[in-house]
Amino acid sequence: MLNKKTVDDINVKGKRVLVRCDFNVPLIDGKITDENRLVAALPTIKKLIADGGKVILCSHLGKPKGEPKPELSLAPVAVRLSELLGQEVKFAADPEVVGPNAKAAVEAMKDGDVILLENTRYRAEETKNGEEFSKELASLCDVFVNDAFGTAHRAHCSNVGVTKYVDTAVVGYLMEKEIAFLGNAVNNPERPFVAILGGSKVSSKISVIDNLIDKVDVLIIGGGMAYTFAKAAGGTVGDSLLEMDYLDYANKMKEKAAAKGVKLLLPVDTTIAAAFPNPIDAEIAVEVVDSKAIPADKMGLDIGPDSQKLFHDKIVDSKTVVWNGPMGVFEVPAFAAGTEAVAQGLVDATAAGAFTIVGGGDSASAVRNLGFPEDGFSHISTGGGASLEFLEGKELLGLKVLD
Ligand code: AMP
Repeated sequence: MLNKKTVDDINVKGKRVLVRCDFNVPLIDGKITDENRLVAALPTIKKLIADGGKVILCSHLGKPKGEPKPELSLAPVAVRLSELLGQEVKFAADPEVVGPNAKAAVEAMKDGDVILLENTRYRAEETKNGEEFSKELASLCDVFVNDAFGTAHRAHCSNVGVTKYVDTAVVGYLMEKEIAFLGNAVNNPERPFVAILGGSKVSSKISVIDNLIDKVDVLIIGGGMAYTFAKAAGGTVGDSLLEMDYLDYANKMKEKAAAKGVKLLLPVDTTIAAAFPNPIDAEIAVEVVDSKAIPADKMGLDIGPDSQKLFHDKIVDSKTVVWNGPMGVFEVPAFAAGTEAVAQGLVDATAAGAFTIVGGGDSASAVRNLGFPEDGFSHISTGGGASLEFLEGKELLGLKVLD
């Protein structure tokens, strides 16, 4: 259980509330191309408005590296958020984030007003959890709410440092929901429980694999990671992604799974090509081969059709499903079928009554780009890195410091 105070435990009438949101949305030429994180933040904001609070929103956007970068201003977010909320979200433009302009904007707020501060990473101290900027942020508010699940694994001024200087610091609805969904799946799963891991590297997911083997009934591994396992098992993987330093680790994980009675499912076949197509949707010659017999001059770029069926059917037979990481280079249409098959597996499992979670990051953008409906899954997380750390069994720093 969460064991933290949430926005439901407070009433902020007449109070200034600083809400750390995750408005780190993709922008192309100032246009927001995926607004899911904005939509996900609305319930908390609406609750605080309904209380009659003065709602001060803050977030980072991209990596401005400690200085104002106009292309990473949160101004477009204020515009779109106003439309989504049906109420003006005033943008407190200020290169210092908490400078004279932001302070004046807060000063002028009436109960129920909403303002958005400038990108917190315009300040170099933000990512260092520095004292000065933490204090400045705290000076704007009486109450702090953390609803930014996407940055919950980081200790920055706007989610950790600030809490030192505010008496009341609670969890928002989105954060609460993310933790409840992920926590339930991982710590209290209805069985069979299957986890699917993909993406490029074994090295970035070693602790996740290790931790999940202690919890799941079936662990499916696909994507670029799988070639290290194939090589470790004596296969040839050609030019595929390979981490030679992790061959022993791959074998150890196989042994651990066997000892625990966990089924470790790896691709049986793989879709290969000589190179990446250029442009990405260009015609390209592909072949399907045994996943342990990739010719020297070819690379594996997706799981093959037999693996797609194998993984899909295993997922559909499960009651709890957690997925993080694509099965192939899904950005290229010729290598998206594996990721699509897994996403379809989750959709079919959800329809059959299973509890299914898509970890954030690449898997979340993959299901959306491939056109899968949002309600085809029990939950699509808004946080890639944070959900991975959760799957590693780590405590989230941004959550630890709340009341
Ligand atoms: P990660 O950030 O580790 O979750 O990896 C996501 C990336 O892995 C995506 O951009 C995929 O294109 C890439 N990926 C998945 N499978 C492969 C593969 N077989 N070869 C190269 N890259 C892959």
